[in-house]
Amino acid sequence: MDKNSRITLNNGVKMPVIGFGVFRIPGGEEVVNAVGEALRAGYRHVDTAMIYGNEEGVGKAIRESGIPREEMFVTTKLWNTDQGYETTLKAIDASLERLGLKYVDLYLVHWPTASGDRGNFKSINKREETWKAMEEIYKSGKAKAIGVSNYMINHLEEMKNYATIPAAVNQFEFHPFLYKEDLLNYCKQSGIVVEAHSPLVHGERLGNPSIKVIAEKYGKTPAQILLRWSLQHGAVPLPKSSHKERMKENIDVFDFELSAEDMQALNGLNENLHLRPNPTNLE
Ligand code: NDP
Repeated sequence: MDKNSRITLNNGVKMPVIGFGVFRIPGGEEVVNAVGEALRAGYRHVDTAMIYGNEEGVGKAIRESGIPREEMFVTTKLWNTDQGYETTLKAIDASLERLGLKYVDLYLVHWPTASGDRGNFKSINKREETWKAMEEIYKSGKAKAIGVSNYMINHLEEMKNYATIPAAVNQFEFHPFLYKEDLLNYCKQSGIVVEAHSPLVHGERLGNPSIKVIAEKYGKTPAQILLRWSLQHGAVPLPKSSHKERMKENIDVFDFELSAEDMQALNGLNENLHLRPNPTNLE
């Protein structure tokens, strides 16, 4: 596995095994510069969302890079308040317009609720009608693959009752302090590729003593240890950084391998820490 490796989704689409996340990078020049640097560092997979407010800049950076479209993998997400059949169909067109693209590689339902109260979501279930529109979007070619985000086992089980096209990806919060082993295994058994959001724990736990000891042992940084942990669990990490050196550091994770013992030690850091809302109780 190297930075150019791709994982095959359940419909045959190939996705780079690491992606660049752009949550909280302001739109305009800031995101154009950040994505430009990330592409120069070797990332070919960018993860944005309508709600991040930076789709225009992501699209601009990709165009300016001169990298052929087919080499890029671009993900965006349907925001909660756009859920519903007609509104979802409109939302993808608006995202494509902002991105300046004819298609995205992956379109995700951002959360399993149509509630717009950021950080304090209520349960509003429009998942079935939303997914019907996602299937239409897939069939139209506007998204090469469709999937979900922050779906827990209960939401994925429910999906079996209404989906005719299964989700290709589930993107959820995944790092050693929130080691969702059951969900990871469920997705693997169901042929759903896992993407790890917030894989660096927002940078808040990089000073953890256990991680530091492991990092020193491999001559790597704590951030690299966290990303390697995701990769070795078969999850696709989506690190975000606004710093060029860190972008390079975060993709330089393919020249070492954590031992089974160190993977176990990192798994043991789990404390069910949710940096983003816990979706489990969204009905
Ligand atoms: P991350 O876990 O990627 O952490 C980002 C933070 O870590 C930033 O503050 C960054 O600082 C810092 N950082 C990055 N690299 C390093 C490094 N090598 N050394 C030290 N500090 C570092 O957080 P995110 O929440 O951004 O998650 C990543 C991506 O996941 C998002 O951008 C988004 O694409 C996706 N996501 C999806 C969600 C969903 O609901 N589907 C929810 C949350 C995230 P700096 O930028 O200053 O370098």
